[in-house]
Amino acid sequence: MSGGGLSQKYCPDDGRQLGGSLPNLRQAVKAAGDRLTETTTDATKGFLGPKPDIDWQDPAARKAHLGELVAAARMLVAEAKIRQGVAKDRIISTSDPEMRHGRKSASRKFDGYKMDVMTEEHTELVLGVEIRSGNAGDGEGAAPLLEQVQTIEGIEVEQLLGDMAYSDGDTRVAVEELGAELVAKVPPVSNRGLFPKTDFVIDLEATTATCPAGVTTADARPAKDHKGRPSTMFVFPAEICASCPLRECCTKAKHASRTVAVGVHEARIQAARLAQSDPAIKALLRRRSKVERKIDHLQDLGMDEARYRGKRKTKLQALLAATVANFQRLHVLGVFATAPGMAQAA
Ligand code: SF4
Repeated sequence: MSGGGLSQKYCPDDGRQLGGSLPNLRQAVKAAGDRLTETTTDATKGFLGPKPDIDWQDPAARKAHLGELVAAARMLVAEAKIRQGVAKDRIISTSDPEMRHGRKSASRKFDGYKMDVMTEEHTELVLGVEIRSGNAGDGEGAAPLLEQVQTIEGIEVEQLLGDMAYSDGDTRVAVEELGAELVAKVPPVSNRGLFPKTDFVIDLEATTATCPAGVTTADARPAKDHKGRPSTMFVFPAEICASCPLRECCTKAKHASRTVAVGVHEARIQAARLAQSDPAIKALLRRRSKVERKIDHLQDLGMDEARYRGKRKTKLQALLAATVANFQRLHVLGVFATAPGMAQAA
């Protein structure tokens, strides 16, 4: 799903556009928060409060005010351009400050929003949809949408099937805390052609790691993960690594030995990786493709493009598409079927 690009509504020759441009400017300033420079903050603050006290009947006063608005808007746009490719959560449109650059894959980019969809497996009815920024992580949406779905009367979710993007430890914990089990394939680990972490046997109880050469280390040092949480770094003995015949396949460090990082979710991920070789779990994971068909259906109903600005209205679009999809599905399931030859009129 994608949205439109940068647009400017303001036309300096038409004073009637002033009222329509102010909400855009206000939205853009609000979304930018404290990331604006002092100069742009000063230039825009006169347009954020109540209606300015100028003589609106005087064309010259109106024109001067319009000129200031144009200058402020241009400064905002210029700042947005300067920040291009730099800020992580960069605003990419002044007319829709909530849309973001996103990626469908490493090579496929889009501008707009992400849509989360949850369906019931047997009926294939849509239970919930959510709209998030294009740059949001896939897994982050699982628990909030599950929570939303759990508020529907009669709905109890025991298992949630997700794709590999939902398989991280944080997402698993968040779903478990809502009383459901997340079943998602753990992606294979790569290490730029060197032995990946999965080639090591990590014994969390004994706090040891054993490498492909059969060397076991108990040198477990405290470290931090990418979110600053405590983790463990296993360090193999430098003197053994230095003369190891497998060194070329293990580390590119000239003098240091091989290390293996173990995060807070290691036990959970190890268990999930082990479980996914079970034929029953493999069969369960194959059933997840049904939701992909539903996403295709929603795209056919217009959800390949955000028709409106902002998450709130785009969610409304998604809810309408999901409602149509559900009615069509209920028709397929025969819910609306009547007995042959029966008609009613009133
Ligand atoms: S380089 Fe070190 S960690 Fe790697 S296989 Fe050899 S002994 Fe094991």
